[in-house]
Amino acid sequence: MDKINYYNISREELKIVDSMAVKPSILLHVCCGPCSCFPLTDVCPHFKVTIYYNNSNIYPKAEFDKRLGELKKVIQHMKDDHGYDIKLIVPPYDNDEYNKDLEPYKDMPEGQLRCFICYEKRMDEAYKYAEDNGYDYFATIMTVSKQKNSQVLNSIGEKLSKKYPKTKYFFSDFKKKDGNLIGNRIADEYKLYKQLYCGCKYTYEDGLRREKERQEKLEHEIH
Ligand code: SF4
Repeated sequence: MDKINYYNISREELKIVDSMAVKPSILLHVCCGPCSCFPLTDVCPHFKVTIYYNNSNIYPKAEFDKRLGELKKVIQHMKDDHGYDIKLIVPPYDNDEYNKDLEPYKDMPEGQLRCFICYEKRMDEAYKYAEDNGYDYFATIMTVSKQKNSQVLNSIGEKLSKKYPKTKYFFSDFKKKDGNLIGNRIADEYKLYKQLYCGCKYTYEDGLRREKERQEKLEHEIH
C-alpha cells in the first residue's frame, strides 16, 4: 500500500489554522524533551499549545522524572528564546497498571505490536483529555522519532478522531524535512539529556547494555 504523505497534509492544515480569526488550541502528547524540540518550533507559531506528558510506559519512575525535568528545560528555553508560552499538564504515573496491556508482548522486538499498543494507549488517554477539556486540536510529537512509524501513529490518530469527534486530529510527520536532525541540534544546544532507550522496562536493559558498551569504547579510545 502507498504511504500517505502526512507532512504535506500537515502543511495544508496549517493554512486552514492560519486563516482562523483566533489561534486555535492544541493538546500535544509529548514523550520527552529532546523529541519535543523540533515539533514545538513547528506548531507554536500557529497554536496555543498545551503539553500533555502522559507517559506511564517509562521505567523506572526516576527516568520518568528525569525526562520530565528535561522537558521543563525545553519549555523554559522556548519562552526565553522565542516567547512561546507553553502550558504543561502531567497526569498521574502508574507503570504497573500501564504494563498490564504490554506484558503479553514483552518479548517482541521494538517497533512491533507491543509498541503499536503503547502508542495507542498514550494517544487515547491524551486525546480523551483534549476532547473532555475543549481543545480544538490534538497531536502527538512521536512522529519525529526515526524509530516510530508515522503511518501507524497517524492511522491511530485518525481512528481516535472518530472516537473523540469534537477535537480535530492534527496529522503530522515531524521527522520529515530534517525535523529529526534539526531537533537533535536544538537538544544539543540546550544540553539536554538524551535517553538511550525508548522507555519501557522491556527496553531498559538494552539501554544499560548500550551505555556500558559506550563507556568501554570511550575508555578503550582514551588508553
Ligand atoms: S519500546 Fe517504546 S513504544 Fe515500544 S512498548 Fe516500549 S516504551 Fe512503548
